[in-house]
Formats: sequence, structure tokens, C-alpha cells
Amino acid sequence: MALLVQKFGGTSVGSLERIQGVADKVKGFREQGHDIVVVVSAMSGETNRLMDLAQNIQKQPTPREMDVLLSTGEQVTIALLSMALNERGCPARSYTGGQVSILTDSSHNKARIKKIDEENMRADLDAGRVVVVAGFQGKDEQGNITTLGRGGSDTTAVALAAALKADECQIYTDVDGVYTTDPRVVEGARRLAKITFEEMLEMASLGSKVLQIRAVEFAGKYDVKLRVLHSFQEGPGTLITIDEDVAMESPVVSGIAFNRDEAKVTIKGVPDIPGVASRILGPVSAANIEVDMIVQNVADDRTTDFTFTVHRNDYQRTLEVCKQICDELGAREYDGDEKIAKVSIVGVGMRSHAGVATKMFQALASEGINIQIISTSEIKVSVIIAEKYLELAVRALHSVFELDREPVQEVEV
Ligand code: ADP
Ligand code: ASP
Ligand code: MG
Repeated sequence: MALLVQKFGGTSVGSLERIQGVADKVKGFREQGHDIVVVVSAMSGETNRLMDLAQNIQKQPTPREMDVLLSTGEQVTIALLSMALNERGCPARSYTGGQVSILTDSSHNKARIKKIDEENMRADLDAGRVVVVAGFQGKDEQGNITTLGRGGSDTTAVALAAALKADECQIYTDVDGVYTTDPRVVEGARRLAKITFEEMLEMASLGSKVLQIRAVEFAGKYDVKLRVLHSFQEGPGTLITIDEDVAMESPVVSGIAFNRDEAKVTIKGVPDIPGVASRILGPVSAANIEVDMIVQNVADDRTTDFTFTVHRNDYQRTLEVCKQICDELGAREYDGDEKIAKVSIVGVGMRSHAGVATKMFQALASEGINIQIISTSEIKVSVIIAEKYLELAVRALHSVFELDREPVQEVEV
């Protein structure tokens, strides 16, 4: 008998039939004697639908009102799932994030969890009830509703698992685990039996949305046993682990992440003098625009071209800021490109292997793909390329790093 936190994502509760399916599944776990806390997302497409509704009323609604609106999606699914469980003779109670209570800071739309009061949940569990909690939301000190950022139900689940010291946090979704790359893009993608927290964190932050970044951070920090599984198919899924052995046996590259969320801007002919980088990036961050990759080069004429990437949603605003910067610095011109993509190879094995980046660049070159920006860290190499080559690049890298193949099992002698 174990205490399990089980999170079901948007597609897994995307219709009444699926909600019934989830209820059957949860009831099955109860019958095996486990205590269950369920976290659910809004029905698939609902959060986007709510965002569209808001857009029709006000172009820039206050983040507070957006949170009041967006949190309603999850409130529907907790009630429906609890009803479905009660209907099956499996007692259940639903709670919004605020009721649980999940206390967050006041950064609406991207709030951070500060404290969870798990007493309500314990009382229900002791009384033999399934606790059904709305993912993605909490409340701040003043009682305002907050949300945790897109994909935030994963974080709710991990945080509840940490607070309750659950035996496992299970993320049920529409794929049967974490794959070497997005299985919807590369047919040969392979499910990983295990992946280290470190690699999962890189994969998530570089675009693999199968888990929200903060959920992985939280699980690593509080030592939560985290597993990704398919909602409606049996299987072992993928265990996210700190197991040193997994790291030791890891192939050089464990996975490939990518995203289409970025845009690139370049300020050309900037005088190459001290302080230029901060004079460019200062106004950008003052406009609340986050910068990801940065490249600066020096030309013979003592001027420099300065390139950086931002989230695509911030592209137009960034261009406006660049215009000001150009005038102030006396730079020659600026331009930008929205049609870019970032592709990254990730693997703890890179630490002990040389030549990984070169192999990546050769593979891209042999497909005629031009690399626009490169950035590396100890366990990843990322490149920016034209968006139209994204799928080709991911497939080529998947094959060159032999990710389609089952890893060779070490035989002990
Ligand atoms: P949920 O609604 O259950 O939270 P998400 O859509 O957020 O589900 O995440 C699951 C999706 O993540 C999959 O459908 C898959 O397309 C995508 N994905 C991206 N990268 C990976 C990967 N490396 N392994 C598995 N799935 C991935
Ligand atoms: N419903 C929210 C979203 O679509 C949170 C989640 O599903 O995790 O981002
Ligand atoms: Mg998700």
C-alpha cells in the first residue's frame, strides 16, 4: 500500500469518456489499497479557449484577472472527476488550489509555490477518500487566485507529492514516457526507461514540454520519485532519477529537444567599446523581455554585430526597443527573424566525451543546414537554425547519435 500522487493532463481528461476512464483507473488503484491524490488539468484546449475569450474583451488584461479566468478550466475537471468517482462508489472530494491550500507568491501567471498545507488532504485520505486537486493554481497571502504558468499542473503534482512525502508522483499523459525526442516528430524516437533529473531539466528547458521545468526542479530538490506514464496504456513509463548508475551508463547523447518559440534580433555596426552589452540588454530587460542566447562578434572596423534571441511573443516589442537602442548607440541598423528554431542535444555522457559538438555540426552540414547561433554547456549543445529545417535536423541528429537503437546492455564479468 502506497501513497501516490497521480496527475492527468489535458488530453487525458479531454472528454467525458476520458474522465470516466480516469475514474476507472483511479478506482482500480484504490482497490489495490493505495491512498490517492489526483491532480487534473483543464480539458484539452480549454486554457487556450479561455485565453482567446479574454483577448476578445481586452488586449492586455491584468494578470490578476487572467488568473481568475484561467483557473476555471481546472475547476470543471476536478468536480467532474470527483462525481465520476463518487458514482463508482469510490468516495472523492475536489479542491481548488486555494482550498488545499497551495500558497504561492503574488506573481500572477507564473506564481511560485511557497507552502502547502496538507492537513485537509490527510484528513480525507484517512477517511478513505480520494483527494482531487485542481492543477496549475494556488492563492497568494491576500487570497488572490494565482496560476503557475503553462503546463503548471505537473508542478502542482510534484509539490503535493513533496508535501505529503508520497511514495511516487505519477504524471499520466498521452505518451507512454519520456522519449529520446518528441515521438510526434521523429517516428524512430525511443522511450527511455530512466533519465536523470539533470538531463530531464535540460530537455524540459530546451523545449520538451512533456514535463514542466519547475516540476522537474522541484522533484530534484525534494527528492520526489517521479514517473511519466500513459494514461490509458499499461507500461512502466519513464523514471526520472538521480541514480548515479544511470548517469554512468548513459550514452553520450540521451535526447534531442527543440522549440519554435524563439525569435532572433541583430543590432549591426555597434561601436565596440566597454559597456555596450549592458546598454543593449538593459533596456530589453527593463521592458520585461527575457533574453535567451547572446552572440557578439568583433569586426576589423572596431564595430560589432550583437545578436540575441527572445521569446517569439516578445518579438515585436523587442524590435521597438532595438530601434531606440540603435538611435542611442549610433548603431548602423537592426533586423530580426521570427522563423528560427532551436535544436539541442542533451546528455550527461558529454562530460566525458570530446567531439560531440563537432559531430552535431557535421551532421547538420551534411544536410545543408546552416547554423546561425551556437551555445553550449556541460551537458548540452544548442543551435539556432531556420525553422523550415527543424524536422530534418532533429531526424538527422537522432540517427547520427544512434538514438533509434536500443542501448547496448553492459554485461557484467
Ligand atoms: P499533458 O496535457 O498530459 O500535460 P503535454 O502535451 O503537456 O501533455 O505533454 C505531452 C506531449 O509532450 C506529448 O504528446 C509529446 O508530443 C510531447 N513531447 C515533447 N518532447 C517529448 C519527449 N522527449 N518525450 C515524450 N513526449 C514529448
Ligand atoms: N491547463 C494548464 C495549461 O494548459 C495547465 C496544465 O495543463 O498543466 O497550461
Ligand atoms: Mg503538460
